[in-house]
Amino acid sequence: MRVSHLMLVTLRDDPAEAEVISHKLLLRAGYIRRVTIGIYAYLPLLWRVLKKISSCVREEMTSAGAIELLMPQLQPADIWQLSKRWAGYTQGEGIMFNLKDRQGRELALGPTHEEVVTNLVDNLIKSYRQLPCTLYQIQTKFRDEIRPRFGLMRSREFVMKDAYSFHSSEIDLKVSYDRMDLGYRNIFRRCGLNVVAVEADSGSIGGAASQEFMVTAEAGEDLILISEDKSYAANQERAISLPKIAFISENRGCQYLSTPKQTSIDQLCQAHGLHSSQIVKVLLMLARFSNCTPIPILVSLRGDQNLNEVKLISAVKSHVSSKVGTLLEITPITPEGAINQGVNNIPFGYLGPQLDDKVLLGAKDWQKRFLRFVDPTAAALTYFVCGANIDNKHLIGASWGDLFILPSQVDLRAAQANDQCIHNPIYTLTENRGIEVGHIFRLGHKYSIALNANYTNEIGNQEPFWMGCYGIGISRLSQAAVEQHHDQKGICWPLSIAPFEVIIVIVSIQDEIQRTLGEALYSIMKAARVDVLIDDRQDRAGVKFKDADLIGIPWQIVIGRGAINNQIELVERITSRSEQLDAGYLVKYFLQYLERTHNIFLGD
Ligand code: ATP
Ligand code: MG
Repeated sequence: MRVSHLMLVTLRDDPAEAEVISHKLLLRAGYIRRVTIGIYAYLPLLWRVLKKISSCVREEMTSAGAIELLMPQLQPADIWQLSKRWAGYTQGEGIMFNLKDRQGRELALGPTHEEVVTNLVDNLIKSYRQLPCTLYQIQTKFRDEIRPRFGLMRSREFVMKDAYSFHSSEIDLKVSYDRMDLGYRNIFRRCGLNVVAVEADSGSIGGAASQEFMVTAEAGEDLILISEDKSYAANQERAISLPKIAFISENRGCQYLSTPKQTSIDQLCQAHGLHSSQIVKVLLMLARFSNCTPIPILVSLRGDQNLNEVKLISAVKSHVSSKVGTLLEITPITPEGAINQGVNNIPFGYLGPQLDDKVLLGAKDWQKRFLRFVDPTAAALTYFVCGANIDNKHLIGASWGDLFILPSQVDLRAAQANDQCIHNPIYTLTENRGIEVGHIFRLGHKYSIALNANYTNEIGNQEPFWMGCYGIGISRLSQAAVEQHHDQKGICWPLSIAPFEVIIVIVSIQDEIQRTLGEALYSIMKAARVDVLIDDRQDRAGVKFKDADLIGIPWQIVIGRGAINNQIELVERITSRSEQLDAGYLVKYFLQYLERTHNIFLGD
């Protein structure tokens, strides 16, 4: 390929639309262009990267026994209604783009394919003899993300590899899941990524167990907690830990404490010499459902701890009747939200667990009772400080009992850095940021039962399929690789996924000797199936060197004045190490090098 044919437009300055370095570099180096919010064109350079990642994924999927197919992107509503995900994915914070066809039938653009594949396999597989079976596809997915950002990291249209496995037993599912786990580790290693596997929450996909693969990077949106001995790693949504021991509060009787303008835990602690673990804080949230009016929730937590929203979602789901329909979202109740609802007398900043349901009486369409939860660590405090539900006042020496009726105790505490580990309290948890590039799930029977997808077992009975599903964000992975592999000058692609393995830079295109040698090397390398790019532009040498560094191809062959003596310069992009070589020797040396590296990447 010739740079002159590549439509390469590089930018000298950081584009205003980009915040994280990988997004800036992909824009500046001419890999992507934004079409609209969260939607990008993959330019020729990036398309080559995506194809390389995809081909590595295909090889590993084949080794894991999976077969490729392509399912439709437009999906009918009825199967999503059977799995009870239509409302959750289309209303409230739902992320599924949906539409009606000319006959008024509802359709959606696939954010994921559990429903379609379960239905399909139910039609195709009748007997246990046809199991196990694993299908995968590499396809564009659509998600109307609440906060699309960081370029390809969280976009609204992106390329995903999704695989689905079907089994006649849980043990068999476990075997495929473990095989996929291995395949995923191979993929990330071969793509040159440093990835940590973490226990994860199964979210709206569901199922018994799941594991995420996180590229560790500052720009990551996920928080991961890793034990010091590295034997435990989990997404913060899922992580467990031992709670810190609370500071003891003495019994001084329950009294008012004057706390003007002390609406935060920090302010309260500073003004009264308290520790945050001596305080019970109250959070007000609102849960919206598909079939009933919103339910206000009152959560009491120890002041030094944070709410784990995933745990709250499970708690709410298990404490409401099935008549309320699908849980659409849980959001904090803000002072403005309360006033708009006609609820004017909530003393925000001074809330205590005993806040009376009467404050909800004026609500236009909220339910008039709080669903109340307390985290066990807050429930375990004998005496505590909490809001008095009166502006500018807290209570000190409060205790659970008549005044503070203890609500349902539910574990809602988020594990955090420096907490002691459950597997061994001598270790503590450390916090890292991660970019989720893959997620594998043991789904169990969730979709097969919902969609009535069965096979006939050895004794002639109908059984629901055991299922697993496995996703990799191909486009997100490409950007995550840039996040891990770049320097001041630009991108430094790992060889295995670089758009080209080598770029030939002809310093002076007017110089016939340089041009002839460059073209000769280009032809030889192409014939030897090296992914080679030649910069044949008329531009100044400085521009070409800057661009070569920016686009990040692992090897640069610079053809300058030495061409007259058949001398070239070989530069390694990542180290900037350069070597003068004879052109003939270079070809031999380089081909041997690439062969060796490919073998290393293939893990032979
Ligand atoms: P996230 O928590 O980041 O929103 P998710 O858990 O919803 O992701 P999955 O349903 O597990 O995502 O999808 C499988 C993979 O697809 C993810 O591991 C990720 O790599 C990729 N992916 C998901 N959402 C996006 C997106 N908006 N843009 C790019 N890639 C995405
Ligand atoms: Mg996920």
